[in-house]
Amino acid sequence: MFNDNDFIKICEVPGPTKEAIRALLLYKSDISDDDIVVDVGCGTGGLTVEFAQRAKKVYSIDKNPEAVKVTERNLKKLLKDDYNVELMEDDAVNALKKIDNMDIAVIGGSGRELETILDIVNEKLNPKGRILITSILVDTKVEAVNKLKDLNYNPQFMEINVSKGRILDRGILMKAENPIGIITASKH
Ligand code: SAH
Repeated sequence: MFNDNDFIKICEVPGPTKEAIRALLLYKSDISDDDIVVDVGCGTGGLTVEFAQRAKKVYSIDKNPEAVKVTERNLKKLLKDDYNVELMEDDAVNALKKIDNMDIAVIGGSGRELETILDIVNEKLNPKGRILITSILVDTKVEAVNKLKDLNYNPQFMEINVSKGRILDRGILMKAENPIGIITASKH
């Protein structure tokens, strides 16, 4: 696992997804080196880098050209050209249609297209595939759970509140990060 500070950040692109969330997503994804992963809304590549280190192949999608560029910079910086990642600068719906199949879909950005994205992911997800959605908007969390139920999944929902300690001379100052919802589901 990398530290949050290892990633190159730029102000135009949100991310990286924080360390505790990356760790939890890796764990919940049950990733192995046979898995094909899709990172929808790759942002700075925080998740792409962690998954690429462990997967057979990662497709990283973002509609923001700056996000695709910074994801590539983070891959080169942290994985030293030793990675199998296809970067796709496109809207998630268009990009997903071009991918044949996947074992793990991580959705960290969807705009207003989450339902359509989940319809396509559901079609392309291999048997025993896993879906992981991170969300900061209450509305997206509810939409994700409802859509997964409609598609006959049995979704799980966690809200993660992390505080990290800043070690100062006179003590430890706790700093809260934004709460993040994690919705997970798997195909049986
Ligand atoms: N997990 C990332 C952060 C994701 S931020 C990291 O670790 O850095 C969410 C990203 O989703 C943004 O970069 C945004 O451009 C992208 N996004 C939102 N809706 C999208 C869509 N419909 N298609 C493609 N990318 C999308």
